[in-house]
Amino acid sequence: MKTARYPNRYSRYGHGPQMIRFETLLEKVRSYSPEADLELLRRAYVFSALEHKGQTRHSGEPYLVHPLEVADTLAEMKLDVVAVAAGLLHDVVEDTLTTPERIAELFGSEIAHVVEGVTKIGAIPFSSTEERQAENFRKMLLAMVDDIRVILVKLADRLHNMRTLHHLPEERRIKIAQETLDIYAPIANRLGMSKVKNELEELAFRCTDPQAYESLRAKVEGRRKFAENVIEDLTRRIRSKLDEAQIPLITLDGRIKRLYSIYLKLRRQNIDLERVYDFVALRVTTKSVKDCYAALGIIHQTWSPVPGRIKDFIAMPRPNGYQSLHTSVISEHGFPFEVQIRTEEMHRRAEEGIAAHWKYKEGRVGDNRDERYFQWMRQLLEVHQEVRDPQEFLRNLKIDLYPEEVYIFTPKGEVKSLPRGATPVDFAYSVHTDVGNQCVGARVNGKMVPLRTPLQNGDIVAIITQPGHRPSRDWLTFVTTSRARSKIRHVLQGEERARSFELGRRLFDREARRFGLNPKTVLESAELAAFASEYGAPKVDDLLAHVAYGKLSARVLLQKAVPGGLPKEKPPDSAVLSAVKRVLRPGLTDDHIKVRGTDDVMVFRAKCCNPIRGERIIGYITRGKGVSVHSAGCSNVLNLMFDPDRRIDVEWDSTRADLAPYVVRLTMQVEDRKGMLAEISAKVSGINTNITNMEAKTGDDRRARIDMTVEIQDMKHLEKVIKSIKRVEGVFGVERTARG
Ligand code: MN
Repeated sequence: MKTARYPNRYSRYGHGPQMIRFETLLEKVRSYSPEADLELLRRAYVFSALEHKGQTRHSGEPYLVHPLEVADTLAEMKLDVVAVAAGLLHDVVEDTLTTPERIAELFGSEIAHVVEGVTKIGAIPFSSTEERQAENFRKMLLAMVDDIRVILVKLADRLHNMRTLHHLPEERRIKIAQETLDIYAPIANRLGMSKVKNELEELAFRCTDPQAYESLRAKVEGRRKFAENVIEDLTRRIRSKLDEAQIPLITLDGRIKRLYSIYLKLRRQNIDLERVYDFVALRVTTKSVKDCYAALGIIHQTWSPVPGRIKDFIAMPRPNGYQSLHTSVISEHGFPFEVQIRTEEMHRRAEEGIAAHWKYKEGRVGDNRDERYFQWMRQLLEVHQEVRDPQEFLRNLKIDLYPEEVYIFTPKGEVKSLPRGATPVDFAYSVHTDVGNQCVGARVNGKMVPLRTPLQNGDIVAIITQPGHRPSRDWLTFVTTSRARSKIRHVLQGEERARSFELGRRLFDREARRFGLNPKTVLESAELAAFASEYGAPKVDDLLAHVAYGKLSARVLLQKAVPGGLPKEKPPDSAVLSAVKRVLRPGLTDDHIKVRGTDDVMVFRAKCCNPIRGERIIGYITRGKGVSVHSAGCSNVLNLMFDPDRRIDVEWDSTRADLAPYVVRLTMQVEDRKGMLAEISAKVSGINTNITNMEAKTGDDRRARIDMTVEIQDMKHLEKVIKSIKRVEGVFGVERTARG
C-alpha cells in the first residue's frame, strides 16, 4: 500500500502541514498590509507552536491548529498585526505556563494586553438562561474590555470552537452553543458584524435544538430546487429591469434564508414552514443612496409590495449602524420574497461591522466617508471622549461602552448591574432588602473588604449577614444606589420613630398619672382621636412621637382628651419620693433648689452644666445620690429624657434668693493685644462682680484664650457680665464652661 506523503518542503524541519497554512496566513496579511511586521507574526507562531507542543484538541489534531485558525479569521477580517499575533498567542496564557509578562517581554505590551484580555473574559463563568442575565453578562464582558481587538479575537476564537464543536461531548457542546446564542452572537450583532453573528447562530442552533434544525433543514431541502429556480428567474428579471432604468448594479445575490432566521420567524409567528413563503431573499448592491431608492422604485413597479414590510434603514439606521432598504414583494409564482438594497459600503459594514474600520487605515484619510464612518463608530461604541482626528481615534481605540455601570457576580453566578462606584452595601440591597439590612461584612473575590470599597467589573461579591443586625447611619455616606439609600433611611427612621413613640408614651403616662388619669383610657378616648386627625397625625401614636420631639406637650394632649378640664394635680408620685427620701443625706443638699411637693430631698447641681439661679432646670433622680439638677439646655438632659420615669420637676427656691453666689467659669477667645486682660477685668469688676481667678494663654495666630472664674448671683447677673465682656474690642466669643 502506498503511503500518502504531504508534499511539503518544510517537512524535513519537523513541521507539519500547519507550516504551509502559516505561510498562507502571512501571504494574506501581506496582501492587505504590505508594511506589516511579518517577522513578529513568525515569532509569535513559533512561540505558540513550542508552548502548545504535545497538546491536542478533542478532534485529535495538534492544538496549534486552533490558534492558527483563529489568526486566519482575524486576517480575513483584515485586522492589524497586533490582533493577528494575539490570535496566534491567545491560548498560551490560559493553557500553558506562559505569563502575560513573558508575552509582553517577547512581543510587546500591546499584544500582551490583548492576550490577557482574551484570557480574562474567557475565564468568566456564565450559566443562566434568563435573557436579562445574559444582557448584563454581555455588558459586563464589553465593559471589562478596553481594547476592541480583545472582543474580535474572542469572537474569532469562538467561531473556530463552534466550527469544531461536534468533537466535544454532548453536554459541553450544548453549554457552549447556548452561551454562543446568549452572549457571543448578540455581541457580534452589537458590533455590527453580521457575518460572524450569522455563522455563530447557525452553528449554535444546530447544536442546541438538533431536532428542530434537522426537520427544518429537511423541509427547506425539499423545496430547494423550486426555490433555486425562482431565485434564478427573479434575479434575471431584476437585472434587466435595473439595466433598462440605467441603475448601476454592483452585485445581485439570491439565497435561501438562514435556517436560524426561518426558525425564529416560525417561532415568533407560531406558524409552520408551509406557511412561511418568504424564505427566499435577494440582495442588491448599487453605487449610491440615490440608486438604492431608484432600485426600490423599480422593484415596486415590477411586483406588488407587501404592505407594512417596507423598511428604510438608510434614513433610520439600526442601533448597530446597519443601513439598508428592505421590502417584501409578491412574485408571479405566488409567494412573497424579500429584497434588501444597499450601497457597497453599507454592505461591507453590515457584514464586517467594527472590524471593517481597519481597512480605512490605509490611505483615504480626510475622505468624508471616513469622517462619517468615524462618527458611526463612535456612536456604535458609545465612546464619550472627544477625539478630533479619526486616525488618532482608530489608533488608540479604547472602548468604554458602559462608563456609568459596573457588573458584579453573586456567588451563584448571577450578574447584577450597579452604578460605577457602588459598594458591597449597594450590592447587598440589590440582592434583597434583608440582605442589605443584615449586612455585616463582604467578601470580594474571596477576600474580606471594608463595606465602603467600590466594586470593580467582574467582582464576585459575597455578603455576610447576621440576623437582627441593623443598618448603620454611616452607610449613607458611601452608598450610591437610591435603593440602598432609601432602604437604610427607612430602617433608621423606623427605629427613631419606635424610640420616640416609647419616650412620648412615658412622658404622657407620667403626666396623666399626675392628674390621677388612666393613660390607657385617655389615649383611647374619642376626643384624642379627633384631635389627632385635626392635628394631621395619622394615629394617636403619632401624637406621642410629637410629644417626644417636644413639638407637643403631654399636658396639651391631656387637655384635648379631657375637654371638661383636668382634675386637680396630685402631689408627685409617692413611690418616687420615698425612693428619693431613702437616700437622704442631711446637710448635703443644695439649698437653692427644691423639689416640687417636698422639702426634704437631697438635691445637687450637676457639674456638667452647673445651672445657676434663674435658669430653666430639670431634676433627675440618680441611683443613690439624690436628685441632680441640670440646666434645661444641658446636652446630658437629652440622654436623661430616655428614662423619663426618673425625671422630676424642680424649681428655684424663691425664699432664699440671697445666699452664697454661684461660681461660674467663663472662657473667651480674644485678640492677643496689650492691656486686654486689664480691660476685661475692669469691665467685669465694674458691674459689681467678684473675679476669683483669671488666666490667659496665647495662641500662635495672634489670638489668646482667657479663662476667668466669677461669682454670680443669678442668670440675669451672668448675662450682664457676658454682655459687658463682649463689648470689649477684640473679644471674639465668650462661653460658659464647666465649673473647674
Ligand atoms: Mn481558544
